[in-house]
Amino acid sequence: MFPSMISRERLGSLRSAEEQRFADLHPRSAALAARARGPLLAGVPMPWMTRWPGGFPVFVDAAAGARLTDVDGNEYVDLCLGDTGAMTGHALPQVTAAIAQRAQAGLTTMLPSPDAVWVGEELARRFGLPTWQLAMSATDANRFVLRFARHLTGRPRIAVMDWCYHGTVDETLAVLDGDSVVARPGALGPQVPVAETTAVVPFNDLDALDRRLAVGDVACLLMEPALTNIGIVLPDRGYLEGVREVTRRHGVLLVNDETHTLCAGPGGATAAWGLEPDLLVVGKPIGGGVPCAAYGMSAEVADRLSGPMLGHEIDVAGVGGTLTGSALALAAVRATLSTCLREEDFAVAVPLAERFTSGVAGVIAEHGLDWHVQRLGCRAEYWFCPPPRDGAAAAAAVDEDLEGFLHLWCLNRGVLLTPFHNMALLSPHHTEADVDRHTGAFAGAIAALLAP
Ligand code: PMP
Repeated sequence: MFPSMISRERLGSLRSAEEQRFADLHPRSAALAARARGPLLAGVPMPWMTRWPGGFPVFVDAAAGARLTDVDGNEYVDLCLGDTGAMTGHALPQVTAAIAQRAQAGLTTMLPSPDAVWVGEELARRFGLPTWQLAMSATDANRFVLRFARHLTGRPRIAVMDWCYHGTVDETLAVLDGDSVVARPGALGPQVPVAETTAVVPFNDLDALDRRLAVGDVACLLMEPALTNIGIVLPDRGYLEGVREVTRRHGVLLVNDETHTLCAGPGGATAAWGLEPDLLVVGKPIGGGVPCAAYGMSAEVADRLSGPMLGHEIDVAGVGGTLTGSALALAAVRATLSTCLREEDFAVAVPLAERFTSGVAGVIAEHGLDWHVQRLGCRAEYWFCPPPRDGAAAAAAVDEDLEGFLHLWCLNRGVLLTPFHNMALLSPHHTEADVDRHTGAFAGAIAALLAP
């Protein structure tokens, strides 16, 4: 059964009932949301926070492990985990202690702290690239990498996958419209003419990549080894090997953005699948919630960069950030990577994600729906269609009404899913009962939607 066969009337009336239930459960959040509309644009400190289901955002009181409590005392199983920022679990005692200790010894000095050395060595060990730099966010890291790539190759364009997401990097907010590159729908006040800055190719299409890179104007290909921002779209067998061969042949630097695909294992998809990027970006959870990202590079790239990197004008070269690589961030990354996101942590989280997918798949099968659930390591996501092979197919299958309803239904039953995805992240802090709670909620929602 396709989503179009779900009665929109029923969906609408169920949604209204859930919105009422949401309002009844969250009076304190409602009051804070009303007040916040005065000083804060759209009543939130950051625009994405308007994308949660319900008439207003839930205000958080506290989060620990895989649990979150709101200001009304409602407790949730958190499958969003800060959209990967808290993939380790929230408020880990060892990270909290390291942050507190560092706070008493100075947070930011514009000088390296000893933790920097440990962090560089650990990133090299995990991801297999020898040389590293820190950034404040994955967005920042991506921007710096694009700049380096242009500098090294002298080429003007960057290439990305159709319907990718790499943060608020202006040139990457581009999609294909037929053969043309256009600003991604929703991109606010496009900052750069993407048709001039960006080449866009469909995921899983080696011929298209080869044809586009053959033009010779592309400095680097920035990609996630599996798309995770338009649902999970996995690479076809042999595709990533093909990408490496094509990029090498055309002298295009390959950048793996592992910010989300870190869910595939301690060294992301790069280590899990034996990939050989020239540069690699990772962000979000590496600081256990403290803003921090990193980018690594091959020995060859590092060698070619070490000249300009030492130049006296590096402070205005467009790569940096005053608070970047701070003692706070490095202490947080050290505490996080020494105790989290290790083989033994994935050994707990991945089977939970498998349980999640088999639970959801069971409900889908029971109702004979033509839906699909995909998994990459400890990340799982369901789709209202068969598995898409590229971003455009994935984007075409998005059903915001249905998605919003399912999220609200789950939220009202104590389960948080990531907004603007049907995504669940599992951590070592979740339990089988947590997973089953989602499966039960999902089953209830589908039964309500399809009731005769
Ligand atoms: N890269 C990828 C693959 C992402 O998914 C995101 C955010 N969703 C980013 C980069 C940007 O991360 P941030 O917003 O923390 O800068």
